[in-house]
Amino acid sequence: MTTKERFSAVEEYFLKAMPEASSELNFNTPFELLVAVVLSAQCTDKRVNLTTPALFAAYPTAEAMAKATPEQIYQIIRSISYPNNKARHLVALARDIVERFGGEVPRDGEALESLPGVGRKTANVVGAVLWGREVMPVDTHVFRVAARLGLSRNARTPLATERQLEAGFRKELLPLAHHWLILHGRYTCTARKPKCASCALSAICRHYTAEQRKNAKMENK
Ligand code: SF4
Repeated sequence: MTTKERFSAVEEYFLKAMPEASSELNFNTPFELLVAVVLSAQCTDKRVNLTTPALFAAYPTAEAMAKATPEQIYQIIRSISYPNNKARHLVALARDIVERFGGEVPRDGEALESLPGVGRKTANVVGAVLWGREVMPVDTHVFRVAARLGLSRNARTPLATERQLEAGFRKELLPLAHHWLILHGRYTCTARKPKCASCALSAICRHYTAEQRKNAKMENK
């Protein structure tokens, strides 16, 4: 199977299985999404969704959060991973959004990445989810699933994976494909014990066929 055929098969499957895949983070405004994505680094979406209602009630806009102190934010988000750093980043990014962007989350990827606590992945997630930007944010799930399926080859960094996925998927499907790979990694192709026996992609998966071959050899010995 060529890489092109592999991408086509993956697109075909997910277009039927998850035609409307979307973020599992809860948000109502661009600012809320940005805050939720910053909070979700090294933390589950479920935990973030338990925390953000109180945070957004107290600080619904960049203007409101810009007036808070990191300690006040910390008190609300302390059950999330790295609460000290994230509290500092949220206050700093809210102040930056107010001072440099008139209180609105910037659309431009570079401007987003210039905000405190916002890296390439966060900027790409926000751009893809809010504005349908044709980019592929690569988190730990996307990195793993892409490698196992054979969509990425010898990619040692998230950036290398990002480039290969952006080249392989149809451009207009990239915002959806990002959610496909995350959700597949979260619920089926899990890090420790992937559910290969029930995975609909096992027939085209490089990782699974390699494993199968190994097991078959051992059984024949
Ligand atoms: S067959 Fe297994 S390793 Fe391959 S994508 Fe499915 S769950 Fe992941």
